[in-house]
Parts: sequence; C-alpha cells; structure tokens
Amino acid sequence: MTEDPKTMTCEQFQAQLSELIGTGEIVADHPHLQSCPRCRALLADLQTIAEAARQLLPIVEPPDEVWEHIESAIKKEEASTDPHEEPK
Ligand SMILES: [Zn+2]
Repeated sequence: MTEDPKTMTCEQFQAQLSELIGTGEIVADHPHLQSCPRCRALLADLQTIAEAARQLLPIVEPPDEVWEHIESAIKKEEASTDPHEEPK
C-alpha cells in the first residue's frame, strides 16, 4: 500500500518519523512538513532530544588514523590558502 506523502496524516507521518530519523534520512525535506508546522515543531523537539541523548553516550575515541587523516586534511587546507593574503 503506497501512501502519498503529501496527503498523509500527522499520525501516519509521526509513525514513520522515528524510523526516518534512525536511518539518518533528511526528514526535514519530507513533503508532509512543508504543509504541517505542527510536525515541523515536533521534529525540532525530537532532534533536540536526539542531540542530548548523543551527548550522554560515552565518548568513543576515534582511532589514530582518523586523527592523522584530519590533520593532513587541515595541513592541505592551510597549504592551499594564499600566503600573500593579509590576515584579518
Ligand atoms: Zn503533521
């Protein structure tokens, strides 16, 4: 059964919402949100909660290779900036 996302009810949308957030989908682009400020507000609340929950989780240290990768990316970035440009 296929639902037209534009005509789905808030109930149907909210039933899918947690699933959509779990999969990392960009829920903000959902057609239902274009016409429903109530669900937009709900989504904002959920994202605040999800963010807070993430901060409560134990911090996992990324492996050294990740830092090396980040460092070399930063160095590349610095090297590509124009040395003649005046600092602001
Ligand atoms: Zn709605």
